[in-house]
Amino acid sequence: MENIEAIDIAVIGAGLGGAAAAALLHKAGFSVHAFEQAPVFDRLGAGIHIGPNVMKIFRHLGIESKLAEIGSHPDFWFSRDGRSGEYLSRIRLGEFALKEYGAPYITIHRGDMHAVQMSLLPSSQVHFDHRLIGLEEREEGVLLKFENGTQYVARLVVGADGINSTIREVLLGAEKPRYSGWVGHRALVNVEKLRASGLEFEACVKWWWEKSRHIMAYDTKGDGSEYYYVTGVPDQAWDYGTSFVDSSREEMEEVFGVNAHPVVLALIDATTTVTKWPFYNRDPLSLWSRGRLCLLGDACHPMRPHMAQGACMAIEDAMVLTRCLSAQGLDHYMDAFTLYEHTRRERATKVQTISNANTWLKNPEDPSWVYAYDPLTAPLG
Ligand code: FAD
Repeated sequence: MENIEAIDIAVIGAGLGGAAAAALLHKAGFSVHAFEQAPVFDRLGAGIHIGPNVMKIFRHLGIESKLAEIGSHPDFWFSRDGRSGEYLSRIRLGEFALKEYGAPYITIHRGDMHAVQMSLLPSSQVHFDHRLIGLEEREEGVLLKFENGTQYVARLVVGADGINSTIREVLLGAEKPRYSGWVGHRALVNVEKLRASGLEFEACVKWWWEKSRHIMAYDTKGDGSEYYYVTGVPDQAWDYGTSFVDSSREEMEEVFGVNAHPVVLALIDATTTVTKWPFYNRDPLSLWSRGRLCLLGDACHPMRPHMAQGACMAIEDAMVLTRCLSAQGLDHYMDAFTLYEHTRRERATKVQTISNANTWLKNPEDPSWVYAYDPLTAPLG
């Protein structure tokens, strides 16, 4: 090929899944470069749950204790009625998760987690401001073309480029993700105001109303200095043409305020800035890889976020893909990709289905099939 830099593995997108893939492949001894369209990552105001299934991967990467130190360790995932406050379920986490599932369950600010993940990558192998706009599959590698004019040739390409994935489009054709008919409000609330209410705000609680409307509220820091909520609300259309819009305390009162439990009312009262986001998804894809290209995370199995496992599945994908490439070797990438899909498809699709249905942990159930799973040792294939 022309005088273009040749690399072994290109990971397109350095979000939560791509950053994990790049770090795991690097640790496994592969030469890997990550290409991210954003010029820089901001600490956007949003939280995330990370289950023991993924904390095991972070242990392998050497960042488990750092994240455990920053994040909150809820003793329970509570589900409660949004009006009466009645407990619908009390799912044990905390020490129980540590003992039964083999790692902690944490809730954390996603910006804090992502920054720790990114710190694992050698800066010379992370390329910000590189938006992939096209590629050519050639015999000896894939020619990657970026918006800023640079080009690379990669032996393998991992599409970790999210729900609007360019790599998915190359594999399966242009198709916009489907609006799910649901939106979510997201807010970091005023903790001083919460404290002033004199009420107790549980470390991880999902408040439920009819038709599965809900508010999931939790700490994003272990020291209790940040409290966050994300909602799920049916909304027929998303006509704004943007990825999110500003919402308001008044809108929160309108949607959830009527006869709500005092803790919910205090939560709404402590809302200062709140945004509203549409949730999109896709049906399970018919193809996860072809030739030198493969997909992971939201590029491959996007879902509504109600099971708090979307990023966890992306990071599990990254771990299993790394194991498959290590087992088969780079030259046998097609076998590795097949093994990867066979290992991941059933689990990722099951999580996608339950997450979209928004039934997870509403009533008492055993979550061990999700949390006790060990992506480092689970049988391949
Ligand atoms: P993304 O995080 O979308 O990353 C894709 C990256 O690719 C981005 O950085 C993007 O800039 C980059 N990119 C895109 N196109 C290109 C291109 N052409 N060239 C270069 N770069 C490109 N999951 C959990 O596990 N727990 C939770 O508690 C949880 N809560 C959630 C709450 C909400 C409200 C939402 C919306 C989601 C939640 N999720 C949660 C899901 C989780 O956020 C996603 O599943 C996860 O971010 C997917 O990671 P990803 O790396 O596959 O994709």
